[in-house]
Amino acid sequence: QAKREGKNGVRFFASTLDVAAQSQMFTEVRLRRALQRQELHLHYQPQVDARTGALLGLEALVRWTDEQLGDVPPARFIPVAEESGLIVPLGQWVLNEACRQLAQWGPGVPVAVNVSVLEVARDDFVAGVRSTLERHGLSGTQLKLELTERLAVRDLHRAARHLSQLRDLGVRLSLDDFGMGQSSVSTLLKLPLDELKLDRSLLADLEDSPEARRIVESLIGLARGLNLSVIVEGVETTGQLEILRAMPCSAVQGYLTGRPAAPDAWTERIRAVQSERGDP
Ligand code: C2E
Ligand code: MG
Ligand code: MG
Ligand code: MG
Repeated sequence: QAKREGKNGVRFFASTLDVAAQSQMFTEVRLRRALQRQELHLHYQPQVDARTGALLGLEALVRWTDEQLGDVPPARFIPVAEESGLIVPLGQWVLNEACRQLAQWGPGVPVAVNVSVLEVARDDFVAGVRSTLERHGLSGTQLKLELTERLAVRDLHRAARHLSQLRDLGVRLSLDDFGMGQSSVSTLLKLPLDELKLDRSLLADLEDSPEARRIVESLIGLARGLNLSVIVEGVETTGQLEILRAMPCSAVQGYLTGRPAAPDAWTERIRAVQSERGDP
């Protein structure tokens, strides 16, 4: 019996691999190919002043359209990239592309790049960011890193050391998805941070539930107490925006104030910010 299994081992294995694992493997193969062929691109979503709507920054969000898989959302391929190690070349590509675009736009509106703490914990991370900034002639102050944690405490300590070094370059550090899943209060003690991004799941009941309002208000207070700025993500309705303004919440990001779009969509608005500031 063992012999028969051995002979048919490969087929047996393939036929019982569950659908999820198969599609994960296929995603990984296609993603590796897309990276090699430079087939990814970035969209940018505005982060705005909650009161005035002024453009404060743009978040870079990776986009991938595969010939066979179609548009694959980052929520599907970023976890695959993290598990397979592809997150490292992917992260390097994203950072370089965002910096290239930033240099083309010129100073005035910082760009935020998502990184997983997995990348940040690597020993070559700081040198990589520094050389990417240099390559494009950028100051660290034009860059913000949004961190999502999905890692062991050991990595968190190493990440914290690296982040401090980046902060010395003027890079701003933001903790993403706060209030959801693994972004926890204890992380605030472990990482050097400038900003909290409140997860959009916190907004679900904002308009109907006084408790939901109090939670968001408290988190904004927590951030203020720690000297962190706050961005509330996922604002979709004017009702939500009104409530947040009254709290008061200083900055928002969401479909209401701008959907992610290709870089060309933002060039004019960036020019306007630059000429208001009196830049050349
Ligand atoms: P995130 O960093 O929290 O980014 C915000 C996500 O919420 C984006 O989804 C954005 O399109 C979406 N969003 C913005 N406003 C609204 C809204 O009003 N309503 C709703 N329903 N959604 C809104 P996206 O682009 O699909 O990205 C999902 C996640 O994938 C990101 O969450 C981030 O964690 C990760 N990700 C995206 N790009 C990168 C990247 O270049 N590197 C890494 N490591 N992760 C990335
Ligand atoms: Mg983000
Ligand atoms: Mg987020
Ligand atoms: Mg998120």
